[in-house]
Amino acid sequence: MSVRVRYAPSPTGHLHIGNARTALFNYLFARKNDGSFIVRIEDTDTKRNVKTGIESQLKYLKWLGIDWDESINKDGGYGPYSQLERLDIYEKYAQELLDRGLAYKCYCTKEELKQEREALKERGEDKLHYSRKCLYRTDEPDLPYTIRFKVPKDTYYSFNDMVKGKVTFKSEDVGDWVMVKQNGIPTYNFACAIDDHLMAITHVLRGEDHITNTPKQLMIYNAFNWDKPRFGHMTLIVNEDNKKLSKRDHSIIQFIEQYQTLGYLPDALFNFISLLGWSPKGNKEILSKEQLINLFDDKQLSNSPAKFDQDKLAFINNRYIKKLSDEEAVELCMPHLTKAGLTNTYSEEWIENLVKVFKDRLSFGAEITALYDEFFNQEFTLDDEQETLLKEPGVKETLEVFKRLLEELDEFNANTIKPLINQTGKEANAKGKMLYMPLRVATTAQMHGPDLPKVLALLGKDTVINRLNQMMKAL
Ligand code: GLU
Repeated sequence: MSVRVRYAPSPTGHLHIGNARTALFNYLFARKNDGSFIVRIEDTDTKRNVKTGIESQLKYLKWLGIDWDESINKDGGYGPYSQLERLDIYEKYAQELLDRGLAYKCYCTKEELKQEREALKERGEDKLHYSRKCLYRTDEPDLPYTIRFKVPKDTYYSFNDMVKGKVTFKSEDVGDWVMVKQNGIPTYNFACAIDDHLMAITHVLRGEDHITNTPKQLMIYNAFNWDKPRFGHMTLIVNEDNKKLSKRDHSIIQFIEQYQTLGYLPDALFNFISLLGWSPKGNKEILSKEQLINLFDDKQLSNSPAKFDQDKLAFINNRYIKKLSDEEAVELCMPHLTKAGLTNTYSEEWIENLVKVFKDRLSFGAEITALYDEFFNQEFTLDDEQETLLKEPGVKETLEVFKRLLEELDEFNANTIKPLINQTGKEANAKGKMLYMPLRVATTAQMHGPDLPKVLALLGKDTVINRLNQMMKAL
């Protein structure tokens, strides 16, 4: 039987990092096993659907490099692929369960259900299950109703979870749950089980937050005597304080769209997300999509929470940026440089050189403006360590020589500046760290940085000379 897995987003928002991870692991699993990856739209919660939800989910999956074999725009013979287009299918199965006495109509109003729950709470009950009072009620053709699944007594629901091993739920922990709402639209658990079966899904790999839904879905499989897919529930993603990633947590960027806007690279993000709750054999962390597909093994899905390590994300994205050509890097940074108004201030050539010089240090495209500020726009002041360095004996003389040589330069560029550093060393009798460090600090107020002649060329002759004057005056 060939592997068929699905990612089943509800179009209630944009592609979140947690959902992207679910999609990505299903994708890797499908590709590794020569199976099919299906995107099914679970749009039955009509009040929460957002207009561009579906479009945006698909757009950012594609951007991440996650392509699908079947979905609303690609029929594979198991459609329709959005649940609102499958209402007649659910109706048929719900009717069958009603006819067989495995489900029943419930005419209780919201108010009545609320009162019931409150009474249970007052009596100190911890399970606020529905009383089943409609189970034997005769048909009331004029009243609105929901359809509830009649949960069997004393039944255990066990499954061998791909991540967690054996998991068991007792039927007494689940009350008669609503399968079909008053408006005739199925609830998630009912529609999901029907679709997973009809779409021949072999493995259901999803977030741990769905594990309590699994017994309800198993009830549907049992009721129809269907074969069950294999379930796997991936652990939560947590932040650096080990707290569950919440959409309100602003310390972590949550939506794939935001990563695109900030100039993260899709391949890098794919690589990073694949390491959230899974680790390949060996210690390699920089892995291409092809390598990840080859290496993917669901047995290595972790059973402990996946920590969202922001430093690791920066490291991985930087490694991918370093591999870009200069042109690609310029393209990545350009929207940010334009937004910061720098393309109005500087020539195209200057902008290109800026990106070339700083490319290797970038963690993401938008960071170019921060690096620009650090080197070019900052208040030019020194910290204690830098000041101590410049006060070392002989440094003032080194700076003086360098300044004089620069002043004599007609053509001020990286190639002409470079030999002057060595010449300064000879004339001022300074070498190694005591040559480069003072020159760098006195011109950039930084202890470290990219190739100094290139940075100085970007700064321009006037700025460099002014900075050297300013420093020497203070010494
Ligand atoms: N529509 C559900 C969600 O977005 C899918 C859950 C599942 O994969 O079964 O969370």
